Amino acid sequence: MPMEVRVRDVKRWAGRRITVPLEGDWPAALQELSEWPLVGRASGQVVLDNGGDFLAVALSGEAVVGAECGRCLQPVKLDVPFALRQEYREDEPGFEDEWLAYRQDVVELDDLVTQAVLLALPEVPLCRPDCRGLCPTCGRDLNDGPCGCAPPQDERWSALAGWHAIEAKKPQGD
Ligand SMILES: [Zn+2]
Ligand SMILES: [Zn+2]
Repeated sequence: MPMEVRVRDVKRWAGRRITVPLEGDWPAALQELSEWPLVGRASGQVVLDNGGDFLAVALSGEAVVGAECGRCLQPVKLDVPFALRQEYREDEPGFEDEWLAYRQDVVELDDLVTQAVLLALPEVPLCRPDCRGLCPTCGRDLNDGPCGCAPPQDERWSALAGWHAIEAKKPQGD
């Protein structure tokens, strides 16, 4: 079943606003495009605003995805808050297709929900913000404690050391 919202009521007069729950199965396109599987069903809300000659649809909610921590590779369940707003016009004679259309008093939400969640997914999921990750030498999960390997040389510092060397070589004064 596609996600949709009925607008017969809200479209009657400008300034009217209604809020309805966002619920149902996640759109198939979203399941396909998301790098991580979505857990459970959609939950959130849809706020519809009659802006006069258009309807504004604002989605918000929270998706749960089953991801893998980008540092320690442990499975992690992430709550991903999402929000997106889009304007629609009724498809009628003279409709200009630069606008998104709704027909027969129904706004289809699948595309908007898909976009909203994809935009909200983190590029690198983390099990917690300060995850220590794996030791690059022995592979131990450093969240369980230190492993005793020599710390890897931090490239930021060696770059900085190189910069200092260049600065030192510059002639002083103007
Ligand atoms: Zn982690
Ligand atoms: Zn180690």
